[in-house]
Amino acid sequence: MMSSCKYVLFLFAVLLSASSSTISISVQQNFVQCLSVNSQLSIPSSTFYTRNTSSFSSILLSTAQNLRFTDPSLPKPEFIFTPLQESHVQAAVICSKKLGIHMRVRSGGHDFEGLSYVSEIETPFIVVDISKLRSITIDIDDNSAWVQSGATTGEVYYRIAEKSNIHGFPASSCTSLGIGGLITGGSIGFMMRKYGLSADNVLDARIVEVHGRILDRAVMGEDLFWAIRGGGGGSFGIILSWKIKLVPVPPTVTVFTINKTIEQGATKLFHRWQQVAHTLDEDLFLSFLSSGQFKSKWKQNCTEHIHRPVSWWRWSTPSSNAGEGLYPIASPPQILLQRQNIYKNYFKSKSDFVKEPIPETVLEGIWKRFLEEENPTMVLSPYGGMMSKISESEIPFPHRKGNIFEIFYTTGWQDGDQNEKKHVEWMRELYEYMAPYVSKSPRAAYVNYRDLDLGMNKKSNTSFIDARAWGEKYFKGNFKRLVRVKTKVDSGNFFRHEQSIPPLPLGG
Ligand SMILES: Cc1cc2nc3c(=O)[nH]c(=O)nc-3n(C[C@H](O)[C@H](O)[C@H](O)COP(=O)(O)OP(=O)(O)OC[C@H]3O[C@@H](n4cnc5c(N)ncnc54)[C@H](O)[C@@H]3O)c2cc1C
Repeated sequence: MMSSCKYVLFLFAVLLSASSSTISISVQQNFVQCLSVNSQLSIPSSTFYTRNTSSFSSILLSTAQNLRFTDPSLPKPEFIFTPLQESHVQAAVICSKKLGIHMRVRSGGHDFEGLSYVSEIETPFIVVDISKLRSITIDIDDNSAWVQSGATTGEVYYRIAEKSNIHGFPASSCTSLGIGGLITGGSIGFMMRKYGLSADNVLDARIVEVHGRILDRAVMGEDLFWAIRGGGGGSFGIILSWKIKLVPVPPTVTVFTINKTIEQGATKLFHRWQQVAHTLDEDLFLSFLSSGQFKSKWKQNCTEHIHRPVSWWRWSTPSSNAGEGLYPIASPPQILLQRQNIYKNYFKSKSDFVKEPIPETVLEGIWKRFLEEENPTMVLSPYGGMMSKISESEIPFPHRKGNIFEIFYTTGWQDGDQNEKKHVEWMRELYEYMAPYVSKSPRAAYVNYRDLDLGMNKKSNTSFIDARAWGEKYFKGNFKRLVRVKTKVDSGNFFRHEQSIPPLPLGG
């Protein structure tokens, strides 16, 4: 007898075929039929958004952060599937593979190049959006939590703070990020000098691998467990959940911010700051310096240092006022549950690692370039501390000892694609200008600040040699081990995108 779940899906497939004007069986009909055969739990039709569904666009755009990749001219998925259970994800992998449908996976939608919801190199494609899998189970006695991939960092911070004011988790400084995609790339944030990356604080994981099986750490083995903690999203499988280690934090912390305009000598302060920031090992929290703010926000007559006691999670939320968080200081903690990034825009970003202090004249040159662009920002994140104590090969994220800080460059705009070329060129020129003053051979980059200018795979036919161009920038010597793991767990390259880890060719 047909189970109720299969009956729902069967009906849905019949409805789809009835509404179709073509005789050929469409991608989505095949997929729905396949799901009905391969899932043990009911899959409601409301989890499935075809291009004919009225909410298709709003679901597609709901978490897409970079508006550049929401342009109507770009390829759209055949449909979006939003699993409600782990077994739905398993069935999605089995069916995409069986039917040869290219798949993209999305947790929080913050990929800088939109790779979780746009495939320009391979069509047709579907999006498996796991934002509805977002339960968080905190075990304070065990100092740990299981977090499903669709949860945001804000939700994680909130649920921890709800249970304890002396436990925290080192993760991103922006609270709308999906924990699924974030930890796959490492995840830097305001506690990294004290505790390292989020990926350094992962105890276990559940992943759907290429045959649709769910593996935890014990079953997947240490090679794959190593690769998924920093080797980048979308290469090895679909992470269902992470078991994270909670770390001790004081009930309140002191926030330290340098706050000067250019006229008040900001360049000099910057210069001094880069010589000492990475040596302040005991500092619990990062001071982010943003040159963009000099231009737009730090024009007021501010004091040089702001010391302010705040709850640890509050500092995770950068604000419109320097020295506070993203939201006004009086905001209730429930603001962390707001899953949306309130500053969505069109943007192009890049990253660099700095090993020697940047000369003052170069800082002045950056400033001149900033004056030519409407909304530029450069965030300097000091390394040192725990980041220097962890070995380069502990996990795939290799940017450890010897880096004094990381640069995140970004330029944002709101007027669509009209002036996109101009803004992107501006960013590329600034990157070129910085080349002599940042890491070399390779010029390193952070995989979570994805930059397709560094290189791209060609369709499913990826080449190890091509991928080395950007793979060694993101992962240095760890790239080769990532390729070996990929070859072992997904030799057919099912999980792929423009910058996924390639397997070695057969016999290679
Ligand atoms: C506004 C903003 C602020 C940011 N702030 C920080 C910060 O403070 N620190 C930091 O380190 N980074 C930061 N980032 C970068 C961020 O870490 C990456 O964009 C990260 O990939 C986001 O994860 P996501 O799940 O939201 O993105 P998605 O776009 O959903 O996914 C990103 C990549 O991971 C893959 N992926 C997604 N979910 C899964 C899964 N469950 N299993 C396997 N692969 C998956 C996707 O296919 C894609 O390739 C920021 C980005 C933005 C836009």
